[in-house]
Amino acid sequence: MRESLLRMEFYETYYYANIVHNVLGDTFDFLRNLHSWHEDREVSLFLRPFPKRSVLHSFSEYVIEDLMYETLDDVSLDSLANNPKAELWVDRALKHHGIEAPGFRQWLAQRNVSLADASEDDVHDYHTDLRLTGELDDLMTQLANEVFYVLFSNRTLLARLNGYIAGVVGEIGRDQLQGDDALLLQKDGVPTRAYIPEWARRAVYFRDRGMCASCNTDLSGLVSVSSVEHYDHIIPLAEGGINDVTNLQLLCQACNLSKGKRRLATSNKYQAWYSSDV
Ligand SMILES: [Zn+2]
Repeated sequence: MRESLLRMEFYETYYYANIVHNVLGDTFDFLRNLHSWHEDREVSLFLRPFPKRSVLHSFSEYVIEDLMYETLDDVSLDSLANNPKAELWVDRALKHHGIEAPGFRQWLAQRNVSLADASEDDVHDYHTDLRLTGELDDLMTQLANEVFYVLFSNRTLLARLNGYIAGVVGEIGRDQLQGDDALLLQKDGVPTRAYIPEWARRAVYFRDRGMCASCNTDLSGLVSVSSVEHYDHIIPLAEGGINDVTNLQLLCQACNLSKGKRRLATSNKYQAWYSSDV
């Protein structure tokens, strides 16, 4: 089970988690930006069932990277030149995560460019090189893993993300799908129900701590027949919900049977780590 342990550095994790949260709280404001997250990748991002790298991983990575590129033009080369300890954000982050890469200063030196002569283009080229050599991808994967870790337990946020995706999925026509991909949507455009892998069930069971996400019934007791657990799509497939671990919640049998094809509001009650009165 060792591979399931994540080394967490929590480097600006909450800052990014907060931005992901805010973007999802007001998707309309960010709509144009959000579109570039999935543009022309909707099938591979949203329709292939249960990728381990969930849509929340992909979305978090997109937001973090977008922020990084947005701030590149604000980099003050003068202050870098004047302060030998000053570093680019990416260099600090790489170091913090123990990812080995030449720093910007070293990169410039290899090209015989002094900091005084460096330009904004050099900053961009440096990032492009980090991308090509893989270090930037490693960093983004790590940052997104940490943001996922913090946000996965927030079902309201997951419902928002999957609600946004459902709107995009609703626009995909079956005739746009090539070959075997055609099976990913039904004739009416509804995503095809996929088998929920054991790892996804376990993740959701532990996240929801064995409790129904709607009525909070404890399903961990083994004696009651009603303790059978059901894995429910937070945004129903019929409404464009996708087969992704972030779109699942644990329900008791009664809630699951009574909901039919409707969308069931997810509970915002969570079990405390410990009780104040016991
Ligand atoms: Zn229930």
